[in-house]
Amino acid sequence: MDNVTPLGGDVYEIDTRMAGYSGVTAGYLILGDRPCLVETGTSTSAPVVRDALTSLGVGPEDLATVVVTHIHLDHAGGVGDIAGYYPSAEIVVHEKGARHLADPSRLMASARMVWGDKLDSLFGSLAPTDAARIRALGDTGSVDLGGGRELASHYSPGHAKHHVGLLDSATGDLYVGDAAGVYLPETGDLRPATPPPDFDLQTALDSVALFGALGPQRLLFSHYGPVADVATTLERSADELRVWVDLTRQAHSEGMDLDHAVAMVREKTRERYSAMASENEETAERFELLSGAPSNVSGIMHWLDRTKARNP
Ligand SMILES: [Zn+2]
Repeated sequence: MDNVTPLGGDVYEIDTRMAGYSGVTAGYLILGDRPCLVETGTSTSAPVVRDALTSLGVGPEDLATVVVTHIHLDHAGGVGDIAGYYPSAEIVVHEKGARHLADPSRLMASARMVWGDKLDSLFGSLAPTDAARIRALGDTGSVDLGGGRELASHYSPGHAKHHVGLLDSATGDLYVGDAAGVYLPETGDLRPATPPPDFDLQTALDSVALFGALGPQRLLFSHYGPVADVATTLERSADELRVWVDLTRQAHSEGMDLDHAVAMVREKTRERYSAMASENEETAERFELLSGAPSNVSGIMHWLDRTKARNP
């Protein structure tokens, strides 16, 4: 299938075709003795992911595990549907996200507040998963991939309080979710992902440092794809966080409202990203969808307000 790319080590990248776009959200299949899907994509992507798994020879009873880096709807919105297609699969998620997969009502209500009418076309609706099938991860944990291979989970908050990174013992691949930002393979651009309500700078930087300390061979971004240059890329992740926080802090201290702050930060960061200068408007649009300035700036503003409330 043209949305499945072999990455070596029995790992397959699946373009989930989020909201009809290509190259926005990736899921990954690790095809060992115990096949494991990392990230489901959105609910509306679930049939696309199922077709990809079928093309790789994974039938309804074959999928052993579904693991999500965190429960944002672009990563985990399809969990309920995928759990339905694959009745033997165990669903693995950080303990702070587990109850929302069993009962998505609060998560969906807050997503509705953030996205409004766009919720349905972008994400669809997260279906509940039987709590008995969900395994919650603590600060560290493990997913058995079969044949002595495992996926080790490492708690990595900052982007979201229920975020984990996942390290493959056979390949050294690290599934970074959104904790290292959003990477655009066509241009090599990398932007932070700092949405409300959980963003916290030091926590996010600590998670990037933890990723470096794990010594991965390759980073697998959910947005989007593999990156082999680990050290430089993680340095870039940390730099991007600092740049966006510095600019937003400046806007915040000048008392700008969100719209003005977004415009200022967007203008001052524009030249950092070749996607924004791209002739190809679709590339810029995709980048904005993934890690939009409004979402990033409001997440940082929200954090600055919280910090101020704690230390007036
Ligand atoms: Zn996220």
